[in-house]
Amino acid sequence: MMKEYKKCQSCSMPIKKSEDRGTERNSEKSSSYCKHCYQEGEFTQKNISVEEMKEFVKGKCMEMGFPKFLQACSLEI
Ligand SMILES: [Zn+2]
Repeated sequence: MMKEYKKCQSCSMPIKKSEDRGTERNSEKSSSYCKHCYQEGEFTQKNISVEEMKEFVKGKCMEMGFPKFLQACSLEI
């Protein structure tokens, strides 16, 4: 069984009932995200592009002080 989180792993909104959960492509409830963030297997927030996301992750990697892993970080996404 997959762990069912009690709050959204994206926006941290508490998920109190199954209606609050997002949906997967197969119409199953998402175990990790709320309906505001995740619907039909996709994130609803598309205001951030893949490139922006990469930059964001790269920035996080540098923040953590692991320049050596920078390449690994950008390869993971
Ligand atoms: Zn959410």
